[in-house]
Amino acid sequence: MPLIETLKSVLGGETEERQFTHQCGDCETTFEAPEHNPNEVSCPECGSDRIHTAT
Ligand SMILES: [Zn+2]
Repeated sequence: MPLIETLKSVLGGETEERQFTHQCGDCETTFEAPEHNPNEVSCPECGSDRIHTAT
């Protein structure tokens, strides 16, 4: 995570960039991404695009 992102999450405050929790349909890894549409994200572990949005 870049330092600026760490600072933002520590400070909270003004960032509107909420994270959505997704789960990989292949390896079942759960991860967060700012993109809500599961079709727009791919698994950081295996690269699959069979993603389900958990939220
Ligand atoms: Zn995966």
